[in-house]
Amino acid sequence: MEQFLLGTNWKMHKTFSEAEEYAIGLDKLIKKYPMYSYFIIPPYTHLKQMQQALAQTPVMIGAQNMHWADEGAYTGEISPKWLHDLEIQIAELGHSERRQYYQENDEDLNKKVKAALRYKMTPLLCVGEYGKDKAYGVTPEVLRRQLKIGLFGLTDEEAKKLWIAYEPVWAIGESGTPAAPDYVEKVHGVIRRQLVELFGEAGNIIPILYGGSVDPQNCVELARCRDVDGLFIGRSAWDLKQFEQIINLLS
Ligand code: PEP
Repeated sequence: MEQFLLGTNWKMHKTFSEAEEYAIGLDKLIKKYPMYSYFIIPPYTHLKQMQQALAQTPVMIGAQNMHWADEGAYTGEISPKWLHDLEIQIAELGHSERRQYYQENDEDLNKKVKAALRYKMTPLLCVGEYGKDKAYGVTPEVLRRQLKIGLFGLTDEEAKKLWIAYEPVWAIGESGTPAAPDYVEKVHGVIRRQLVELFGEAGNIIPILYGGSVDPQNCVELARCRDVDGLFIGRSAWDLKQFEQIINLLS
């Protein structure tokens, strides 16, 4: 496995000046802790600005979503071709907010994963169960379905380019309850086995990140879990002081 991944999705947050300030701070931070692979996923409107601000650093930049088609009558959508022209490296796909509020389904996500691969971007496919699924004990089935459909038809070679984020819906955002490390380890094991079933040996090298209320209190235990190859952090990485605290604790 490569370096441990640390990244954040800004969602619909940060003005241009806040973004500029963040990039300056992040540049300093990664010089202090060069042992991790960093990525940030700002809103579309900030992509070019962040590309330029972080051009001299190894920080990877991602988009929060995209359409699967190159072009067409899709008002308000973003083409993978444009992201490729901007040299965006990661396409975050299927965040639970997209699935929940914008009805993104696994079939559409499959088309998006293929489009990202077509344009040489890393598809970061987010999967996760609702609290109700956890309560009924169907988390493995829910995740297997999301993975089987979302990754349908990919070759083993293509699979090597994927990243998966496990983000239990009940654990993310303001109302989230952090997931217990032993639960995370169990679920990452389910994901790993499914990836190996789909792609053989290639399934073993796909990084699986954990996301959902990661903070300075739980980051170390979560990062130590088997099959956790990175942390995908929301609120706690938007403030660089807190992000640094996490990175420092992990180091
Ligand atoms: C997220 O929404 O993807 C996320 C990980 O958020 P948070 O860390 O704030 O729970």
